Amino acid sequence: MEKQPSTLIMDVKLQKDALARPIKFTPPLYKQRYQFIIQLVSKHKPKKVADLGCADCRLLWMLKFCNCIEVLVGLDISEEVMKEKISVLFNFSASRYTLSPLPGDYLQPSERALTVTLHQGSVAHKDPCMLGFDMVTCIELIEHLEAKELEKFPEVVFGFMSPAMIIISTPNSEFNPLLSVTLFRHPDHKFEWNRAQFQNWALDTAAHYGYRVEFTGLGVPPPGKDVGFCTQIGVFVRNDLKNREPDKFEKCREHAYKTVFKAVYPSLKDEKYLQNAVVGEVFRTAQLIARRILDCKISNPVEIEPSLQPQHCFLKYLEHFPLAEKDNRSMEPFINGSTVSIPLEKIFSFPKVHHLCGTFETLTKLITGKVTLSKDGTAVLIDVEYENEEN
Ligand code: SAM
Repeated sequence: MEKQPSTLIMDVKLQKDALARPIKFTPPLYKQRYQFIIQLVSKHKPKKVADLGCADCRLLWMLKFCNCIEVLVGLDISEEVMKEKISVLFNFSASRYTLSPLPGDYLQPSERALTVTLHQGSVAHKDPCMLGFDMVTCIELIEHLEAKELEKFPEVVFGFMSPAMIIISTPNSEFNPLLSVTLFRHPDHKFEWNRAQFQNWALDTAAHYGYRVEFTGLGVPPPGKDVGFCTQIGVFVRNDLKNREPDKFEKCREHAYKTVFKAVYPSLKDEKYLQNAVVGEVFRTAQLIARRILDCKISNPVEIEPSLQPQHCFLKYLEHFPLAEKDNRSMEPFINGSTVSIPLEKIFSFPKVHHLCGTFETLTKLITGKVTLSKDGTAVLIDVEYENEEN
């Protein structure tokens, strides 16, 4: 597209202005781009998200904290740019941007399942591992593609992957004079489009692959400069949200990408972690109840008739736990010698245990063999001999 003399004069004027007062965005534009994606994720709650051209995985790192996401995938042509991140991940470094689960994730597994995978490969190639995504982000990627790759990009991303939503951001070349940029913003850029060029490409692509597109951007120009946003963004939404993937899987079984990292986060959806959490919570709750009963025994040293003792103590204990059902006597714990017996029904009535297990049957199933139970299996037994000696 050849520039008219009047446009050139305007560019020179804009550049002079830029040199006089260089534009700085706060927060920096790259952070605003990530924030833009996070907001879209909060709004649309995708479960499977892929970031194409993920570079050092910072966006992925931010996305791992979005609780709706269960599958997070990064793709980049360069293993090198991801490598720094990957080695950090394997070394378990204290990096802020680690994609690996941290010790805290194991101590308190999340309710959602999360898998993070990084692939090395090109957006110009199809791989079945990219099917079934709800959202695909391409942040400052397309301007790095060679002409041939750019030509293939719509067929792969829109035609083959065809996620419900695609977000593409790219520099708006009309803004460049304000940044004192003469040709491109980065030496690796193969092109930079003005608004018309990007919007024409986006509208054609959307129409061809059954998407609609809305345009927006980030980085507002100074007042009086009608150059558009510094970063231009197209948000594409697929018109037909029916799943068309099995068909494609048949056609493309070949894996073109190399998986360079995979992390499966500990989750309560996995029975192993759920069982650990339930057993821990049951044990904590039972200990707490036993402790309260013993405390109550200490603060009431008067000899109470043994048959009355449990109820008396338990009523005291209930004052600390108003959520427990006060009128259900079958749920009352009692002391027998050096053992406190706490009915499972009682433990199940505690909100955290209830929430973790869902049903009484699940509670019973998960703790059997892991916690000491009464002979009939209806109560947790806590040995308080040591505490009694102490007292
Ligand atoms: N999306 C990241 C962000 O916003 O922070 C960084 C984008 S970086 C400017 C462009 C990335 O695209 C680079 O990491 C580059 O390696 C990657 N890239 C270039 N050509 C690619 C291709 N054909 N397929 C996948 N990634 C590619």
